[in-house]
Amino acid sequence: MNNTPKILIAEDEPAIVDTIVYALELDGFKADSCSTGEEALALLEANNVALLILDVGLPDTNGFDLARDIRGRHSIPIIFLTARSDVIDRVVGLELGTDDYMTKPFSPRELTARVKAVLRRTTAGEANLDKDNASPHPHFAVYREQLQIRYHGRLLTLSRYEYRLLELLVRSPSRVYTRSQLMNHGWEEPDFSMERTVDTHIKTIRRTEAT
Ligand code: CA
Repeated sequence: MNNTPKILIAEDEPAIVDTIVYALELDGFKADSCSTGEEALALLEANNVALLILDVGLPDTNGFDLARDIRGRHSIPIIFLTARSDVIDRVVGLELGTDDYMTKPFSPRELTARVKAVLRRTTAGEANLDKDNASPHPHFAVYREQLQIRYHGRLLTLSRYEYRLLELLVRSPSRVYTRSQLMNHGWEEPDFSMERTVDTHIKTIRRTEAT
């Protein structure tokens, strides 16, 4: 498995793309780029992208609208690129839960530093998971703050209870749990007369397909 994080750049100015790609690759990242929002969505669906660098002024879409679409499907961190005059955009971006933004013109070194900082922040949840267990499941990534789990990079559609159950199982792949242990973990006020509901949720998790 290749662990080099892949960064996607959605930016319609080729000179800026070239500069960013060069700086990222120099720092050991893999970089892919596109110039429209539509392409960005398609590439995010098809690839395991660790972080998106998103120009707010793409030709076919507003970067903030696009970010809203993306957040509905992926738990990927985003660094917005905005024009210096986009003061209002900064506010909107932060309200959207933006991980970071940079105003143009920016230094490519500063951008790669931000990329590293954002990746450190957003993988902190996974690092905590690793700490609890010597052999966490290699194919799942858990994002505790977003209550999301990815399987092979694809976001799983899970209810709150399903998330909690799967999170526990992923943390200890080889461990066997009783129904009541699962109830205790998944429910605030476990009612042991309803243990069979655990079975139902486990069945749903087994059927869940990545989106
Ligand atoms: Ca632009």
